[in-house]
Amino acid sequence: MLEKRQFYIDGAWVDPIQGTDCEVIDPSTEETVAVISLGGQADTNAAVAAAKAAFPNWSERPVAERIDYMRRILDAYATRQQDMAQAISAEMGAPIDFSLAEQVDAGDWHIRGFLEAAENFDWESGLNGQAGARILKGPIGVVGMITPWNWPMNQVALKTAPALIAGCTMVLKPSEIAPLSSLLFAEIVDAAGVPAGVFNLVNGDGAGVGTQLSVHPDVDMVSFTGSTRAGIAISKNAADTLKRVSLELGGKGANIVFADADSDAVQRGARHCFENTGQSCNAPTRMLVERPRYDQAVEEAAEIARDTKVATAHDRGGHIGPLVSALQFEKVQNLIQAGIDVGARLVEGGVGRPDGLNRGYFARPTVFADVNNDMTIMREEIFGPVLSIMPFDTDDEALEIANDTVYGLTNYVQSNNADRLQNFARHLRSGMVQMNGKGRGQGAPFGGVRQSGNGREGGVWGIEEFLEVKSVGGWPE
Ligand code: NAD
Repeated sequence: MLEKRQFYIDGAWVDPIQGTDCEVIDPSTEETVAVISLGGQADTNAAVAAAKAAFPNWSERPVAERIDYMRRILDAYATRQQDMAQAISAEMGAPIDFSLAEQVDAGDWHIRGFLEAAENFDWESGLNGQAGARILKGPIGVVGMITPWNWPMNQVALKTAPALIAGCTMVLKPSEIAPLSSLLFAEIVDAAGVPAGVFNLVNGDGAGVGTQLSVHPDVDMVSFTGSTRAGIAISKNAADTLKRVSLELGGKGANIVFADADSDAVQRGARHCFENTGQSCNAPTRMLVERPRYDQAVEEAAEIARDTKVATAHDRGGHIGPLVSALQFEKVQNLIQAGIDVGARLVEGGVGRPDGLNRGYFARPTVFADVNNDMTIMREEIFGPVLSIMPFDTDDEALEIANDTVYGLTNYVQSNNADRLQNFARHLRSGMVQMNGKGRGQGAPFGGVRQSGNGREGGVWGIEEFLEVKSVGGWPE
């Protein structure tokens, strides 16, 4: 078992001042793989003090120098890819091949997007040619970063890279469920020679370090990714110090499949829903199918569920792994049962583990049909491999159902009608719309509206999150 109790503060690995042991459980085996420490107020204070002390020097360095440090981090990240994939597989259960190809790669991809954006970023600009008017952009200060377990390096890269480039200093508190990848990231930052105090890591839980960062008077901003529940708590806790709070929260994406969509549309949507064992904020979990294609769609989705293999994170191959924890397993089981109880038609999967798996938090890829948008399985984020399908008859009806949710992260549309695609892209209430299986570009802004949050991460928009805008008059020309 790994002993990982130390924190990374002021450029050094240090013992906790007020640590409590916390076990990291491998969800494939239910065995303890590591022990970390949950820090207390004194640890949070030490990390924030280090970040505060490092800010004046770091923020005054030329942008080119900060970009250069980010390149060094990218290089160091490349040398640790295998270790990173192993850490992510062990802590949150992503199968090792997926972990390397998707989870680890996401960090690399985002950092490259930020480097590209930084090269062309307008740190200073005029204002419509008006004499003496100048707009300056500078770092907001010390940032508290609180991240979830489901795409650990994706999230850490989306926060640390733009903040470093912007000239902020930071304290990262990764999920206590999946802290090993972030501890490794701290080693990478250290190996890149980033000056002491710029990047600090303290492990802890939401009630402890998470809340301490949210209320801390020396933290200028909290950048949070996680549940809507925690996002609300953080916003309330941050209110007394009026710090900026950037939120990336949950989702309940609609995937609208029209009868004229390409032949792979339903299978692609089902596969996407089950990817990462359904533990993605942007998972397309509500499939709305135009009636002429509905019966066939239900069959096709059921077949994908049947064909989706479930196995441990340590097996090679293209299967899905376990859910992250016993708690998450329980939650997903209860929601599947809730679907059955209200009469949704269970066409594949259901409660319990897949055959042959008696240990580990494995759930069955599940498809419900004939659901309606009032059912709990259509309203709550399940965060498991569960797809719900319902029919619709008109474009207006599809739009209304898709928008009838408290969330607004990513919606999906499948059709070959250009007018319709543009209409839906304009009218879906979400931060992102993806159509016909196309991804968003590198450096595109990731984020949601309504209870999916208010932040935009990635590229130029991601850098702007960490900046203050200063408006100057009388600038000598
Ligand atoms: P979570 O909210 O339980 O935990 C996320 C992080 O917040 C952890 O580090 C946790 O310790 C911390 N935390 C919890 N309560 C807190 C509090 N009161 N104050 C401060 N910090 C607190 O979420 P999770 O279960 O780790 O992650 C899953 C959730 O994250 C899902 O809802 C998912 O949709 C969301 N998510 C959103 C995005 C996005 O970009 N929109 C991306 C990934 C995950």
